[in-house]
This record gives sequence, structure tokens and C-alpha cells, in this order.
Amino acid sequence: MQLDVLAFGSHPDDVEIGLGGTLIKHARMGYKCGIVDLTAGESGSNGTPEIRRAEALKSAEIMGMTVRDCLELPDARLQVNEKSMRAVIEVIRRYKPKVVIGPYWKDRHPDHLRASQLVREAAHLAGLRRYPADGEPHRPPVTAQFFLAVFDEPSFIIDISDVYETKIGALCAHQSQFGMAEDTDWKTLVNDPQFIRMVQSRDQYVGSLIQALYGEGLYTEQKLAVDDLMSLRGWERGWKPKLAVENIMESKEE
Ligand SMILES: [Zn+2]
Repeated sequence: MQLDVLAFGSHPDDVEIGLGGTLIKHARMGYKCGIVDLTAGESGSNGTPEIRRAEALKSAEIMGMTVRDCLELPDARLQVNEKSMRAVIEVIRRYKPKVVIGPYWKDRHPDHLRASQLVREAAHLAGLRRYPADGEPHRPPVTAQFFLAVFDEPSFIIDISDVYETKIGALCAHQSQFGMAEDTDWKTLVNDPQFIRMVQSRDQYVGSLIQALYGEGLYTEQKLAVDDLMSLRGWERGWKPKLAVENIMESKEE
């Protein structure tokens, strides 16, 4: 099976946070999109690998993903080594995506940093005919990175306004991470009710940069080619003040 877009995250909820809207949007446009979680998230303070896998699959279904795999590399101890590189290369060769997206290269979580390096290097090495890994050589033509803890200057922004409710739905599928049972769960950054609001604030800010309600930024070190100037979107479209005002009025009525 061949995918159009393949996204990698260190933990089973990473991709949803930084890239969920983009993947949902592309799946709705008919592109085959997939997610690979590098670890099962077993070092997370709440949930178990089994619970987190079930939540990840539920979320993938909400997002319309064609596949969601887990490589079960060690959580909180992710390393860039022969074993992890081979695992990422083999999954790139298996799905032969046109676009590969991993985490941004600056972040405070060591797993995110290593995932960034792993995905970036694997996307190149997967194309080497003699690299000792299974599968036919494949080098994805486009690689990009999504933002988690650190937000930086994006290379381009995707308008995710139309799919925003679904992004929040996918995040909420990770009940063990973003929900909080007072008696059993450990208080973390992400199960604070403010966390999803913070994700939303960033998405609104990024959206505002392109006159949209919500956006996700992507970084790429490549220079990307454009064939059709008419496919570029500038100042003339996107901003929907009427919808924004309606949202505010609705929330006041509650
Ligand atoms: Zn993470």
C-alpha cells in the first residue's frame, strides 16, 4: 500500500497536537494519510500501552487515517541508533509516502528531538539501495516538521478552520492523557484543562497569520517548487469574521 502523507510522532498523541488538522484535511481531500507512533507511550504518567494504543486507533479513525502503526521503540529512552533507524526506514519503504512529516528539531522533550533526527535521517537513508533494511529503496520527495513544545517560524501554514472540531475530537480520544480521574491519575501538563485551550490558542494565532480561524504551521529546510502560482493563497481569502463572532456569541449563551 502506498500513502501520500506519513507522519511520525514520538508518543501516541503527538501528531494530533501539532499536525492533527492537517492530516484530517488531507484525508478529507482524498489523500491516503498514515501515522506512525515511534513508542507506545509506556513512560507516560497515565494510561498503559494497551489503553494508549486503543485511544490512538480511535483517534486515527476519527481523523480518517488509512493506517496507524506503533514501532514500540523505548519511550523516554528513544535513541538514534542502528535499530531505531532501521525500523523507521523500513516503515518509510513499506508505505512509500510522497510527504514525510516528523517533529520539529527544537523541543524540550528528548524523545521529540531524537524523533526529529531519526525521521529526517531515515527519510534520506531509505532511498539508499544498499542500506541494510528490508524493502525497496524509497526517498520521499518532501520532508517537513511539525511543532510541539517549541513554536518557531513556519515555512508555510495550512488552514485547518474547516476541520477544527474534528481535531479537538481526535485529541479528546486520548482520554487517559487529556482527561483526569482525580483519584487515580497523576497531574501532568497535558491533563490540565488549560492544555487543550493552549493548543487552541496557538492554532488560532497561527491561523491569524494567514487570515484564517485556525492554522497549523510546518517547517521545512527544503526549497519547495511551485508549478501553479494560482495555487498560492494570499490576503484575499480565508478570514471569516462572521463565523468568529458567532462562536463568541454561542459561548456567551452557554
Ligand atoms: Zn510527545
